[in-house]
Amino acid sequence: MKMTRQERYEQRQQLKAQREEAARIAAEEEKQKQERQDIRFMRQAITQAKRASRIGEVPIGCVIVRDGKVIGRGCNRRNTDRNPLAHAEITAIRRASKALGDWRLENCTLYVTLEPCQMCAGAIVQARIPRVVMGAMNPKAGCAGSIVNLLEMKEFNHQVEVVRGVCGQECSQVLSGFFLGLRKNKEQK
Ligand SMILES: [Zn+2]
Repeated sequence: MKMTRQERYEQRQQLKAQREEAARIAAEEEKQKQERQDIRFMRQAITQAKRASRIGEVPIGCVIVRDGKVIGRGCNRRNTDRNPLAHAEITAIRRASKALGDWRLENCTLYVTLEPCQMCAGAIVQARIPRVVMGAMNPKAGCAGSIVNLLEMKEFNHQVEVVRGVCGQECSQVLSGFFLGLRKNKEQK
């Protein structure tokens, strides 16, 4: 049976629609997979933040992931180390660079519980990290969108893909819980 021109046209249109639908579903599945992975690694960053809290440090944690594997971890240790550079991100970047044997952290995603400061945002750009996922925003010190946005400035030679608000509430609660504990301690003294 020979198809008419109109029928052939309709068949092509139908096939095209089916292909587009399949591509849309695949993209959606990929997106959901990415979201699940982001939550999973942000939870690991939160674990790092809680470690900081246990040693009396403001709870901020960071992990760096490449090919689905954590290659660097860090938590805030500013007071413990008496070092203004001892931020979670800097420690994680140092460890990840050591693990890779390269200062360029290509194909890596950095997860951090709180929006990075100017030093850490600068280090992220210097390390050429392509993707950053953050939890809570930091209106008073954040340099990834709050005060300035060093990660997405087109004037620099490197721009970062930024995802904000992953486990944001949990990240904020870890921080507010810590400060509440400090205030209670003070009142008891
Ligand atoms: Zn910092």
